[in-house]
Amino acid sequence: MELKFEQGTPRTLRLALLPLKKAGAQLVADMDAAGTGKRCGVCCKPFNEARKWRSVARLVYGGDMVLMVAWKLCGKCAYDAKQNSGHVPDCLKREAESVVKAARLAISDAEGTA
Ligand SMILES: [Zn+2]
Repeated sequence: MELKFEQGTPRTLRLALLPLKKAGAQLVADMDAAGTGKRCGVCCKPFNEARKWRSVARLVYGGDMVLMVAWKLCGKCAYDAKQNSGHVPDCLKREAESVVKAARLAISDAEGTA
């Protein structure tokens, strides 16, 4: 899975709240630095010279901690999402929800109960 999530830090929060147009470049730089985002989040086809990423999808979950999940999308999937009034595709929402659930569990396990 080409997923990225970070526990909420002021920096994550900033990236999560900034308009995607401004945060997108930084999200992509983070993915490149982490070695993720090599495939389209929707169709999972790898990016290469011919198939470049065209846009970034981002979901932010609030609560006692902020979780952000971001994907790069290929031209076709970015176009499809745009046709769907720019909404993040349902398959990404489901993927993000399972990641967020796992992340919350991992974090609450680590904190334990006093
Ligand atoms: Zn795609």
